[in-house]
Amino acid sequence: MPVTPPAQTATITTEGDIKVIHLKPPIIVRDFATALGMKPFKLISELMEMGIFASMNQAIEEPVAVKVAEKHGFMLEIKHRGEAAQQTQQTAKEKAKSKEKAAAEAEVQNLAPRPPVVCILGHVDHGKTSLLDAIRKADVAAGEAGGITQHIGAYQIEHSDRKITFLDTPGHAAFTKMRARGADVTDIAVLVVAADDGFMPQTDEALKHAQNAAVTLMVAVNKMDVKGANIERVKQQMQERNIAPEDWGGETVTVPVSAIKGTGITDLLDMILLQADVLELKANAKTEASGIIIESQIEVGRGPLATVIVQRGTLRVGDSIVCGPHWAKVRAMFDDQGKNLKEAPPATPVRVIGWSGAPDSGAAFKSAKNAREAENLAEEAEHLIRKTTGTADAAPKEVSVESLFANIAATQAKVLKLIIKTDVFGSTEAVRNLLENIKSTKVSLEIVSVDVGLVSKTDILMASAAGAVVIGFNTKLENGVTAVAKHHGVRIETYGIIYELADKVRDMMADLLDPDLKENKTGAAEVRATFPLAKGFVAGCLVTEGKITRNGSARLRRKKEIVFEGKVSTLKRFKDDANEVRAGIECGIKLGDFNGYEIGDVIECFEITKVRAAL
Ligand code: GDP
Repeated sequence: MPVTPPAQTATITTEGDIKVIHLKPPIIVRDFATALGMKPFKLISELMEMGIFASMNQAIEEPVAVKVAEKHGFMLEIKHRGEAAQQTQQTAKEKAKSKEKAAAEAEVQNLAPRPPVVCILGHVDHGKTSLLDAIRKADVAAGEAGGITQHIGAYQIEHSDRKITFLDTPGHAAFTKMRARGADVTDIAVLVVAADDGFMPQTDEALKHAQNAAVTLMVAVNKMDVKGANIERVKQQMQERNIAPEDWGGETVTVPVSAIKGTGITDLLDMILLQADVLELKANAKTEASGIIIESQIEVGRGPLATVIVQRGTLRVGDSIVCGPHWAKVRAMFDDQGKNLKEAPPATPVRVIGWSGAPDSGAAFKSAKNAREAENLAEEAEHLIRKTTGTADAAPKEVSVESLFANIAATQAKVLKLIIKTDVFGSTEAVRNLLENIKSTKVSLEIVSVDVGLVSKTDILMASAAGAVVIGFNTKLENGVTAVAKHHGVRIETYGIIYELADKVRDMMADLLDPDLKENKTGAAEVRATFPLAKGFVAGCLVTEGKITRNGSARLRRKKEIVFEGKVSTLKRFKDDANEVRAGIECGIKLGDFNGYEIGDVIECFEITKVRAAL
């Protein structure tokens, strides 16, 4: 009689994504099966298929065990007593690790300098568009090519034999929108300040966005040619905002320019390249392309187009890429001069033709092995969107430039502006710190001003002009302020407890958001038969869960497909109309004007409720 060896319990650990079974020799079939989480007889039959006949209590050879473990997604570490034996087993884990290491090394070796991606922010009319145009005109290479300039959302120029990419969608709302989608495509933000106007509310807003994005900030003091140009005042304002210019002992590179006269542009570009050097921007061009959608549109005759910036790898004509529910087999690529490009290395903006639909700006794209994989991935993404939104309207959305700007306007609306008054200077800092710690990607908080003193009529007028709420902390209102506020429709809130203030501000921010729509399934019914009516068909159903309600929202599912979505227009028990029918009862259902019911279809009833959006 063979002696049954004592059962050995294996320890299982995970290393990264890899599960590792640790066992001591001998590897007994029974213990090994337990460690693999399978029944011993299953393992025995699997071994038999490999030509190995072992009973439950027998040991198997180590290489065989390693192979079986790998087949089941495990790595097997056999703990020998002696060191020498251990070395004979180069486990799959080590192999995997060295493969990972090699990939990481290749990545580092392939990193090469890439051009900086720059955006231009600032107050309206301070010259963002003019500056973008002036820079483009200064580009020697573009001038020689003599192409027709097109606004594709981004362009690249050459300066001192080096490339610089500019986002050509001025306005910080576009910048914020892209950031909200997680697309930190920008390396350097140039804040344009008109020399005659100085810092204005949107300059401050833009500054805050750039600071939140932790991009390198530079200031271009524009309109140096106009009469009232006063660069010293702008520098003073920069100092007040803790972004003192270099010549004032700070760190912010500040360049005087005139977009209209074209002066200072070379200096600005030199400075951008200098900053890029400091940042040591690098990317691996020798891999599959991935990056960000800058903007997209549908053009008659050419179908959906999208301008993308490649962030990693190189995009080539013929590549297949996917972005959410859309995919493209790149048919052609153009730059902003309309020039055909065969390939786009990192930081290159190109307009891509060959999309299945127009992807959203700010969304990330990645490469797929081939068109089929891209299409599959896009389909999966679409299913996921349908599932999470509970709607069937995930059909490719047409994102035109207009709707892009509408989106931008919508993003712009989601800003809570505050004018704050406090009792003493110490409180202003405490309030500011607390509020600046409120983080939200959906609503931004803009502190228009913070001051010490009573809430005055001037505060109200300023709030009215800026569309801000006035917050008083530990302070009172001047006489007559309530009436002025009422007249101008300005909201005033006063608090004595700082955390109450922060909570209330959070609530006010959340109130700005559209409520989230939540879907609750209220019932389901299975189609058992179909009956003709005078007009169309009705589905004879059995309610299988919850209840079906007349006029309730419902959708018809055929396996996984949603075939129809609408309202329960008719609900009958025998010949009579019913308001609701509960589980276990048969009924007749008609959905809107739908007629194509099939036996086995499932009708799901649901309710949409609005819940306050989270920040
Ligand atoms: P944006 O709203 O920031 O894009 O500003 P624009 O580029 O549209 O410029 C607003 C106005 O300022 C236009 O009338 C421009 O002609 C003018 N402008 C822009 N830059 C300069 C400049 O350097 N000097 C002068 N004198 N005017 C400028």
